[in-house]
Order: sequence, then C-alpha cells, then structure tokens
Amino acid sequence: MFWIPPVLLLIYSGLFGAMVGSFCNVAIYRIPRRCRSVSRPLRSFCPGCMQTIAWYDNLPVLSWLALRARCRNCKMPISIRYPLVEALVAGLWVLIAWRTAWLDPQPLPRMLCLQILASILVVVSLIDIDWKIIPDRIDLPGIVLAPVVACLVPGFVEPLQSAGTLLGVSHPAVLRLLGSLAGAATGAGSLYLVAVIGAWAFKREAMGMGDVKLMGMLGGLLGWQPVLLAIAGACFLGTFFGLALKLTRKTSLMPFGPHLCAASFWLMLFGDETWAFLLRAWDARQQDPLGFNLGALAVCLVLLLILWIMRRRPE
Ligand SMILES: [Zn+2]
Repeated sequence: MFWIPPVLLLIYSGLFGAMVGSFCNVAIYRIPRRCRSVSRPLRSFCPGCMQTIAWYDNLPVLSWLALRARCRNCKMPISIRYPLVEALVAGLWVLIAWRTAWLDPQPLPRMLCLQILASILVVVSLIDIDWKIIPDRIDLPGIVLAPVVACLVPGFVEPLQSAGTLLGVSHPAVLRLLGSLAGAATGAGSLYLVAVIGAWAFKREAMGMGDVKLMGMLGGLLGWQPVLLAIAGACFLGTFFGLALKLTRKTSLMPFGPHLCAASFWLMLFGDETWAFLLRAWDARQQDPLGFNLGALAVCLVLLLILWIMRRRPE
C-alpha cells in the first residue's frame, strides 16, 4: 500500500466530505419523495421558485452564509439544516480520516468504506426522523454489500474462528465473511425478536421492519458481539432522547433508526476503546462513579443539541 501523508488525507476528507454532504441533502430530499432518480435532474433547484441553483450559490456551507439563508431569486428562507448536514458529513469524514490514518497501517480501503457508510447513515437517519421510514432503496443493497465489504476489507469484522474450525476453513477472508454473516443474522434476528415480542405485548408496532433490515446491514459490518453492544447503546440513546423530547416538546416520538446508526458507527470507529472503557468502568464503578457519569452526560448533551437543531424537516 502506497503511503499518503495523513494531513493530505484530512484536507481531502474535509473538502470532499462537504461536497458529499451536499449530495446527501439532495438524497434526503428526493428519496422519500419517490423522485425517479437521485441524480436527475443533476442540478439542484429551489423548492420555492423551482429555479435551478447556480454553482456559486450551491457551495457547501459557504453559499448558505453568503446568501444569508435566503434564495437569491425568490428570497424563500433556506433551512439551516442544509449547511448543518454538509458540515456534519465533512466533520465525520475528517474524524474517520484522523482515526484511520494515524492508527491503521493500511488506512485507505477502510477509510473510504467508513466515509461512504457514514454519509449513507446520515441520509438514513434524517429520512427516518422526517418520514419515520428507512427506504429499502438503501438498506436492501446494504444487506448484500456489507458481507462483501467485510470479507474484502480487514478491520470491520473479527474473523469467526469457531465457525471456521467447524467448517474446516482457515482463510482470513472466509473467516471474516462468516463473522459478517453471523453479525447480520444476530443484528436482524435480535431486532426481529423485539418486533415480534413487542407487537405481542403492546398490541402495536414496537419495531419497524426498516430497523430490522438496517441492523442486518450494520451487523454485517460489525460482527455478532459488537452488534449486540450497538443495539444496547441504541436503546440507551433512545431512552435518553425519548425522555428529553418528552420534557422539551411534549412528544417522545423519535424513530429508532438514528440511534442504531449512531451507536453502530461509534463502535466501528471506537469499538476497542469502548470495550476497554466499559470493562474499566465496570471494575472501577465503586471507586469513581462521578467521573464516568459526567463524561457520558457531556456527550449526551452535545448529541441532544445537534438533534434539537435538526428536528424540523425543511420544506
Ligand atoms: Zn427560490
């Protein structure tokens, strides 16, 4: 693998991430509205006056600031969500580059896969927040692609040694494929179980099939143990945001998809540290409970702030 200076990777990620973020805005707008194509018409248009937006009015974040959040033609306000999504995706791309370029001896394939995945998860999360659906157009191809990626790119899924021994195979790629399939089955299976039990206990839909398919896709990239931790983390986030929404907006209706995305993505980037942290927290619970709780609280408050800003769907 040829070597690229990490600083160059960061700059590339920031610039390219902002452009991809701009495309994510288009996907978030067009996919649930059942537009025939995400890429046609190629040029973005103002939903107020249907005027095609010139390239200089379509630069990520900068144009929104320059236009002072209004369309140049019809002066219709442009939602703050557009520059926020662009900044968020750019930030995630830089975070991934930083994380993989410095710590991974062969960063490029894993970095690119994670950056594409992060962008997809931003799109999935915001569509789920807006419309309470996770489009099959995203998660069905994802379920098929996840084992392929996990098999070809090291660093996503731990090789499943036990199944390899059982089947008499030892090639690392095959073991990773087995680990990926086990993860997909565990992710989709456990949420499907929750859906069935929840529907039986509460006599209403407790878990959408979109969430089940989403966890089939993410489980294929996580492996069977991390995917269980991801679901636990998503439940923790869901409880926290559900309570916060109930207190601030008199509603606790928050889809589960964004929490699943956030927890899974976190584990893909910081899985090792999180396991170590949980084990240490478990051991040191008695000695220093406050330090652990304050850190978790700070992270939750930042996430809440982001969510609060993004809560309204731009028309
Ligand atoms: Zn306009």
